[in-house]
Amino acid sequence: MAAEDGILWRATAAAHEEQPALSGDVEAQTVVIGGGFTGLSTAFHLAQSGHDVRLLEAQTIGYGGSGRNVGLVNAGLWTPPDGVEDTLGVIAGAKLNQILAAGPDLVFSLINKLNIECEAVRNGTLHCADSKTGLADLEERFNQQKKRGAPVELLNATLTRKRTGSRRFLAALHDRRAGTIQPLAYARGLAWAATAAGATLHEGTPVKKYRHDGTDWRIQTANGTVTAQNLVLATNAYASRRVTARRSAFTPLHYFQMSTAPLDDDLRESILPNGEGCWDTGSVMSSFRVDASGRLVLGSVGALKGFAAKTHLRWARRKLRWLYPALGNVPFSHIWHGRIAMTSDHMPKIAEIGPNGIAIFGYNGRGIAPGTVFGRAAAEWIISQDPSCLPIAPELPRKEAFTYFKRKWYEYGAAAAHYIGSRRDIG
Ligand SMILES: Cc1cc2nc3c(=O)[nH]c(=O)nc-3n(C[C@H](O)[C@H](O)[C@H](O)COP(=O)(O)OP(=O)(O)OC[C@H]3O[C@@H](n4cnc5c(N)ncnc54)[C@H](O)[C@@H]3O)c2cc1C
Repeated sequence: MAAEDGILWRATAAAHEEQPALSGDVEAQTVVIGGGFTGLSTAFHLAQSGHDVRLLEAQTIGYGGSGRNVGLVNAGLWTPPDGVEDTLGVIAGAKLNQILAAGPDLVFSLINKLNIECEAVRNGTLHCADSKTGLADLEERFNQQKKRGAPVELLNATLTRKRTGSRRFLAALHDRRAGTIQPLAYARGLAWAATAAGATLHEGTPVKKYRHDGTDWRIQTANGTVTAQNLVLATNAYASRRVTARRSAFTPLHYFQMSTAPLDDDLRESILPNGEGCWDTGSVMSSFRVDASGRLVLGSVGALKGFAAKTHLRWARRKLRWLYPALGNVPFSHIWHGRIAMTSDHMPKIAEIGPNGIAIFGYNGRGIAPGTVFGRAAAEWIISQDPSCLPIAPELPRKEAFTYFKRKWYEYGAAAAHYIGSRRDIG
């Protein structure tokens, strides 16, 4: 099965009304490039305020990371909150931490308000310790979150076994603010809401280039142009060479996932009975969750193409049996992968690309709540012209160093870890 053809979320999301490609020359107040969470949230929040906005998506809504991810709606970044403050400075870091801590509230309130059917479950997430080092990491994360009053709990091995159904973990950090969704269904729901609020969305419309002519932005596509005062570039890891904040602004990292067929009732009751989304403390991280029909979805770093594809698949089969021996040799029904935009300081970026123009990217694998939050903030910034609306200060686009080598490091590192893991009991 080709990785592109097997995206579970495309098979289980409700059908979506195709949006026509752009044809002809049009004007708008704002143009958004990219139809993922960031672009859709920007378009929705702008349209809701009566703003004239056009969104251009090269493929289909949710084609990028937004339609391929695990579906964990996290309250913050991968970097723990102290690390965010160390990197950005105490004031800017505390601002970002606070805004992102409330990210799941925004996502789940939009889902409720807009009646988006996307398998939303808000029973928290479990970050699971698979080693003593992992446990020390979780204790540190727990202390940092507790200090900020976050509703987190460090579960012991017995409680973790009860919640996950697996005997493999020493502990788990439960974060009640978080939850899981069917990510493509959420993206499609946002697209529907944006259209209903008056935004114009175009699919099958790759932007070829964009420029500011001194007065307005001019966005060129194959069959038309858009002229607009404001531009939001929301292409994240799916940016093309010419339509990006700048070349090598981030390092792409692949993450793959595979899902089983729906589990039978007995297994379903013992594996993640409350539906928390999980990931572990492994140096090459893996994630696991169940969807609404009881499929177990397992993921880790790597691309399901090229030399390492078979290794990742072999590792995944073994990992599932290791986590849940009762599963036996359950086959995978869907396999797929996607690209994550990594930055060297692990912080998201807002880059100034010209007058009234920003690019938002670099969520480092945490883009559901942050993308929704940053999109809403971009809309507020456009309406108010007040940069303090933005969760982080915009900066000039920067080139990341050694992106080629970092990409190879991720690729070979994950392949080596999975090769070793597929040959012995995975720890
Ligand atoms: C496998 C995987 C697992 C992940 N798991 C999680 C998770 O569990 N929780 C979490 O919070 N985050 C997760 N992430 C990260 C999250 O999915 C992303 O950060 C988020 O989707 C980014 O949203 P976005 O709208 O910025 O970009 P995207 O969703 O990638 O959208 C960008 C869009 O831009 C379009 N585009 C690109 N170039 C052009 C052009 N020239 N013209 C027009 N359109 C263009 C693309 O087609 C694409 O649809 C995961 C990512 C991956 C890949």
